[in-house]
Amino acid sequence: MSRVEFTYSAYKNLMNLLQTGGYRVCSYHNWQDAARCVILRHDIDSSLDQALELARVEQKLGLSSTYFVLLSSDFYNVASRSSRGKLRALREMGHEVGLHFDEKAYPEGTTAETTARILKERDILSALLETPVTTVSMHRPSQATLEADLVIPGMINSYGRTFFHDFKYLSDSRRRWREPVEEIIRSGEYDRLHILTHAFWYHEADESITETVGSFIRSANAERYAQMQENITDLASIVERETCL
Ligand SMILES: [Zn+2]
Repeated sequence: MSRVEFTYSAYKNLMNLLQTGGYRVCSYHNWQDAARCVILRHDIDSSLDQALELARVEQKLGLSSTYFVLLSSDFYNVASRSSRGKLRALREMGHEVGLHFDEKAYPEGTTAETTARILKERDILSALLETPVTTVSMHRPSQATLEADLVIPGMINSYGRTFFHDFKYLSDSRRRWREPVEEIIRSGEYDRLHILTHAFWYHEADESITETVGSFIRSANAERYAQMQENITDLASIVERETCL
């Protein structure tokens, strides 16, 4: 198996491969219209900025995909002004924003309780985005959730049976393609592909996992200082930036 790099050019190659293979890029709503289709899904587990970068790459290729955002994350706050701006930018590029739901943000619950929590988060996200949110994906779902085939009124569950049984599912979770994604696309064996990528891992140059995680963690310092500056009048007069970072 050839090693797939986690770069924008490798991602573009993947997209070209799909196009060459006759796969039409579809959404969760219109895939039935194409004989051969691929749904591009992105779960935003940690960085909206990284998602925006990949979204721009896709936009330049004329592609649209679905970006799923967490409401319960400590990494980003979808209600903040800057986050809402980023999500608006994603949508203006033609991408869809769906809900990424983390069941572990709640105590263990029944299927009915999980469904109710998803709908509650859906309502909050819809209100923030000022547009209906109609798709959901699960963040690190439990076996029970995977098997539940949750039916959520008014929403498409990307973990529903259709997208796992009628589609060939390929994912780069934990920065590793579990199956030879390029070979599978080239083989043309499957008419329907469901591809999950995490924008977090993709950069201009190929990075190691340590480099990607390390630079993300280090960049948080400067971000935190900027946030302090926004919230404390004339911060620089009471504490020097250099001594903080
Ligand atoms: Zn996730």
